[in-house]
Amino acid sequence: MPAYDYDIGIIGGGAAGLTVAAGAAQLGAKTLLIEKEQELGGDCLHYGCVPSKTLIRIARVYHLMKTSREFGLPGVTVPPVEFSEIAKRIQSVIRTIQKHDSEERFCTLGAKVLYGSPVFSDDHAVKLNGQIHVAKQWVIATGSSPAAPSLEGLSSIPYLTNKDIFSLDRLPQSMIILGAGPIATEMAQAFCRLGTEVHVVQRSGQILSKEDKDMADLVLETLRSEGVRFHLNSTVQRVLSDGVESQEVVIKQGEGKRISVKAEKILVAMGRKSNLSDLSLEGIDVAFDRKGLKVDDRLKTSQKHIYGAGDVTGSYQFTHAAGYEGGIVVSNAVFHLPRKVNYKWLPWCTYSDPELASIGMNEKRAKKAGINYSVFTEAFAGNDRSLTEGKRVGKIKMLLDEKENPIGVQILGPHAGELLNEWVVALNGRVKLSSVASAVHPYPTLGEINKKVVGAYFSPKIFSTRVKKGLKLFFQLKGRACE
Ligand SMILES: Cc1cc2nc3c(=O)[nH]c(=O)nc-3n(C[C@H](O)[C@H](O)[C@H](O)COP(=O)(O)OP(=O)(O)OC[C@H]3O[C@@H](n4cnc5c(N)ncnc54)[C@H](O)[C@@H]3O)c2cc1C
Repeated sequence: MPAYDYDIGIIGGGAAGLTVAAGAAQLGAKTLLIEKEQELGGDCLHYGCVPSKTLIRIARVYHLMKTSREFGLPGVTVPPVEFSEIAKRIQSVIRTIQKHDSEERFCTLGAKVLYGSPVFSDDHAVKLNGQIHVAKQWVIATGSSPAAPSLEGLSSIPYLTNKDIFSLDRLPQSMIILGAGPIATEMAQAFCRLGTEVHVVQRSGQILSKEDKDMADLVLETLRSEGVRFHLNSTVQRVLSDGVESQEVVIKQGEGKRISVKAEKILVAMGRKSNLSDLSLEGIDVAFDRKGLKVDDRLKTSQKHIYGAGDVTGSYQFTHAAGYEGGIVVSNAVFHLPRKVNYKWLPWCTYSDPELASIGMNEKRAKKAGINYSVFTEAFAGNDRSLTEGKRVGKIKMLLDEKENPIGVQILGPHAGELLNEWVVALNGRVKLSSVASAVHPYPTLGEINKKVVGAYFSPKIFSTRVKKGLKLFFQLKGRACE
């Protein structure tokens, strides 16, 4: 038996890598974790979820200050924001959370943490800072980076990505955002609320293109009403910069129509690319393509003792997906309990205001899968708590298959991400719709909308003519009192 220094080696100290490291070390596996940056935590902590959600919250508070009259409060003139102060607040939140992801904590759990950029020298060994480290099994969890689309002129201008946007020294007066996915949408609203003139350029006619159009359009309308300017069905032709303070995007819209949009900054949010190029995977026959690392449903790569987890596989690029996949790797690699990934009930949320949260099938996905479905909806305009909060926009959609089993839920509205959690439990636990309908929900809560949409399914059955006829027959009910 060859001499291994470690039972398991993990490359990448983000959500996926940290989950594997914590699980493996606590189970008694001799664990090595290698991180390229100076600190653990990955994109989510430093350049992703944590800074973006902190910025969204800050922008919301500022927006509420500016809209105080809507709540019957005195109008206030708020001074412009100092982005350097916002950046400090973002950093303070990151520092607080960083403690959970510290080297000391992982050392206490039993994992050794090393820093640097390792290269595979054979399929069990990496070279790091001149030393060879040998492990029986490896996990590649190196995450993803903002993709740099091949647009004419882009490579020669200093554009922004999620790596820069949370540490700007001042608020840009104007910004063009290329792309209209979740990151672009969240940032468009946050920067617009803070006072930046925001333009969003999107190739298709819909933002948040994975979502159903009716839901995405409600987000679009809200952002538009707040001042975000959308350029849909628009293809970027060229990007230019005057080298000082103005950048320009030339856009083609339909046949022959060209417009030019100028702004102080350009934010590129047009997808992600997997971080694989530094590892020398070609030399050890680990397969990958443009999408990312190729893994089977147990997350094994083409080398069965090397696993992949998180953004690097290019599938579901969310922190909770990375954590889930980390758990699957621990099961397979440490417990040797074969476990496969199953994304059927993987939820996600775009943290715009209103939020758009989803689990299971939406109409787009159901149609693509050839599933016949029915849709039940309920509007937030009919939810008392939503009205007391001053929120009227949004709805919930519940999809049932032909057998009337739930196949998916989408919520667009206040705190939709939180509201979805009831469905996370119900769908994973195969809770009957009748249980959701009969469970007493506290009043007035936004969550009542979950019960109400199930009520929309049961109501026509309970209050049907047939049931009424039966009751009349058996109990001699006299019928309507008011015509
Ligand atoms: C702006 C933004 C907002 C987001 N908001 C959300 C959200 O609200 N909710 C959500 O679920 N997801 C969100 N995401 C996605 C989320 O950040 C990722 O899905 C998550 O970070 C993936 O975790 P990971 O462990 O796969 O990769 P990462 O967290 O990126 O970790 C990979 C680690 O590997 C390291 N690494 C890379 N290459 C090497 C190498 N060669 N050697 C050693 N180490 C290496 C990196 O430095 C990094 O620390 C957001 C992303 C962005 C950009």
